[in-house]
Amino acid sequence: MKKISIFGATGSIGQNTIDLISRDPDAYDVVALTGSSNIAQLAADARRLNADVAVTADESRLDDLRDALKGAQVEAAAGQRALIDAACRPADWVMSAIVGAAGLQPGICALEQGATLALANKESLVCAGALILDTAARHNARLLPVDSEHSAVFQALVGEDLKAVERIVITASGGAFRDWPMDKLANATLAEASNHPNWNMGQRITIDSASMFNKALEVIETREYFGVSPDQIEVLVHPESMIHALVGFHDGALMAHVGPPDMRHAIGYALHWPQRRNLPVERLDLAAIGALTFRAPDEKRWPALRLAREVMARRGLAGAVFNAAKETALSGFIDGHLRFTQMAEVVDAVLNQIDPSHIDAPMTLDTVMVADHIARQTAQTIIEQTAG
Ligand code: NDP
Ligand code: MG
Repeated sequence: MKKISIFGATGSIGQNTIDLISRDPDAYDVVALTGSSNIAQLAADARRLNADVAVTADESRLDDLRDALKGAQVEAAAGQRALIDAACRPADWVMSAIVGAAGLQPGICALEQGATLALANKESLVCAGALILDTAARHNARLLPVDSEHSAVFQALVGEDLKAVERIVITASGGAFRDWPMDKLANATLAEASNHPNWNMGQRITIDSASMFNKALEVIETREYFGVSPDQIEVLVHPESMIHALVGFHDGALMAHVGPPDMRHAIGYALHWPQRRNLPVERLDLAAIGALTFRAPDEKRWPALRLAREVMARRGLAGAVFNAAKETALSGFIDGHLRFTQMAEVVDAVLNQIDPSHIDAPMTLDTVMVADHIARQTAQTIIEQTAG
């Protein structure tokens, strides 16, 4: 039996992972499931899957979790320390699907145990790519991409020589506002930004898709994961979300990964890797689909893409600063303190205003956490000035 843990089990990726393992319960021994606010879901899944421990990140919800688990043979725990302890429990395969930089530390702990880390939490690679890769190498642990574009690239590279790669093209649906007139974007509402045309995902990544901050994170994730240079990475708007990525080789060939927009494919690929197993995803009928379309991304509409290039040029801890500023600006939009278009302005201002010593510091978990903290504070101050 494969021992597995799921961090962020109550979220969109976590629930899709549970959907897959529930189809073959005898194959998996569930160690830890974690969530935050959704105690009822966490407890129900922990009971059903007979997990060793259920952890909520929210310390104040421990009693609620204990109540919800009454009579079950499942340990209850809460808080940041408990998340780390759960990540230290031996497991063969760990899903990293907490949203935001909060996913970084548990992921590092899982790698330190030598577990295979299925990484949906792209923020980890954006904030601390070198640290994650180094930890994986030192502990002989494997890192498997779950982000659909990166899973697609990973699959297109099987049997290929990385030296023959000329470029990596990751596609973007364009999100909720790809066809909106530019002058309407400033007044986009939370409900409008939370409505993705193709994918059913958590609210934060859905809004990040509309602003292209999600793609900006993914460009940086591509650089970190595959070790290519920034000028080898392209973004292509592809409204149908059927081609997830393409790899271009020196001989002119482009290998595309085509599949339905269903995260259970990328999750299932990481779950069964290096094998391929039957997965419950739609089989595409390309004749019925008829045509796939593509367009170049417009950096005026999506300034996040330009910011990603700046972050890659600055290197160091710029990714941690960028991500923290983005997370804070996104919360500002969700809470009604910022307009949709002001998110990119805040992130741009944080990158310009933060003391460069935070970006140039050598990368350790501590320096990443400090850069993250200072960037959040700086962003918060800018948001208050903007809103005031
Ligand atoms: P969701 O918002 O649906 O779920 C997030 C999960 O993290 C939930 O389990 C939530 O708990 C938990 N959580 C929230 N805040 C914290 C915290 N501070 N500490 C610990 N746990 C916390 O997100 P998604 O599933 O959409 O995304 C998860 C990750 O996967 C993100 O990094 C995202 O970028 C990435 N990803 C997602 C894709 C998708 O299709 N959804 C596609 C590709 C990548 P609770 O709900 O109980 O509060
Ligand atoms: Mg993606």
